[in-house]
Amino acid sequence: MTGIVVVSSDDATDPTGAMELVGGARRLADAAHGSVIAVIPRLRPHERGAQLIAHGADVVINVEHPWLAEYESDCMLPVLEQICERHLPRLVLMEADSHGHDLAARLAFRRGGSFVNNSTGVGIIQEEINVIKPIHGGRATVTLVPRNFPIVVSVRRTSFQPGVPDGTRTGEVQTFEPRFDHDPRKVRLVERASDDSRNRVNLETARVVVSGGRGMKGPEHFARLEALARLLHGAVGASRAATDAGWVSAAQQVGQTGRTVRPDLYLAFGISGAVQHVVGMSSSKVIAAVNTDPEAPIFRVADLGVVGDCATFLPALISEIERIQASEPLSPPKTPSVTK
Ligand SMILES: Cc1cc2nc3c(=O)[nH]c(=O)nc-3n(C[C@H](O)[C@H](O)[C@H](O)COP(=O)(O)OP(=O)(O)OC[C@H]3O[C@@H](n4cnc5c(N)ncnc54)[C@H](O)[C@@H]3O)c2cc1C
Repeated sequence: MTGIVVVSSDDATDPTGAMELVGGARRLADAAHGSVIAVIPRLRPHERGAQLIAHGADVVINVEHPWLAEYESDCMLPVLEQICERHLPRLVLMEADSHGHDLAARLAFRRGGSFVNNSTGVGIIQEEINVIKPIHGGRATVTLVPRNFPIVVSVRRTSFQPGVPDGTRTGEVQTFEPRFDHDPRKVRLVERASDDSRNRVNLETARVVVSGGRGMKGPEHFARLEALARLLHGAVGASRAATDAGWVSAAQQVGQTGRTVRPDLYLAFGISGAVQHVVGMSSSKVIAAVNTDPEAPIFRVADLGVVGDCATFLPALISEIERIQASEPLSPPKTPSVTK
């Protein structure tokens, strides 16, 4: 079985997702005596090929074309079609990020394959590829056995473990120059605005996530969550109510239509615990919640609960942590990662 992993265009700032996909694809390929091809959509640092091979890729294809300098699905689609035509993969994996959502269904359609989005696991049972995805807002999962190949799956972050890199693995780095019979670009990039969430701790790999919801009452109070996250070397997340209100970036939303997080500690401030939120954080090791409503559903998933007002509890918690850290500083995690 040949499996293709499409490395996200955001890989330049955060390669974790690519390494997870390659690690997962490697395990599937080993089970099916197959190989893993990683496709990098535009030029990357030279060492990225070696990194992908160390994580399990047999072949790394660097796609080189000036039109791919910026991600655009209309350009990536014919490129992937050509690569699939050449290698006839049974499985194509890409991240369930905005680019993956954009590309996966179109590629499956063009190649006459099957498409599964937002998967949380892919396995091989009795030689058949099984794809798991959450349904009913995460209250249940289904296992699908798609019949048409290639099976194109967009996979949620943290669904696969990246695996331990093996520097002795050998593989081949190829360059692929795609053919375009016409200019497929329909969109012109006019401006790139910087996202102030960059260079913070990555939400999806953070050991501590401090999240706020509508109960935080406004964007100004999120500064307190930022302060708490800094003290704990964590990342700031939010409920959809908070991101829809524009209090924080949409990239910080946790839940069904946001990010899936699995930190050691998840702190929820003023979040009711709607199922669409819980599905994105219920795998956290320890969940603590602060809410004025003792009946709030968040307390059903919380290991620790405080019935109280964030406006008073949060400053008290911050000053207590500051007091403790003044005598016993907390060292940052060994491999801090930056958000994409
Ligand atoms: C298709 C779909 C997808 C969705 N995807 C997501 C998603 O990905 N992520 C997500 O989060 N939501 C998602 N939602 C929305 C979800 O259903 C909820 O509406 C949302 O999570 C509510 O956010 P909240 O808990 O911040 O707000 P609310 O439900 O309004 O809860 C606010 C909480 O704050 C408490 N509170 C109020 N004041 C204080 C105070 N001073 N101190 C402490 N507590 C206080 C209240 O008691 C209440 O429990 C989705 C909905 C749909 C339909």
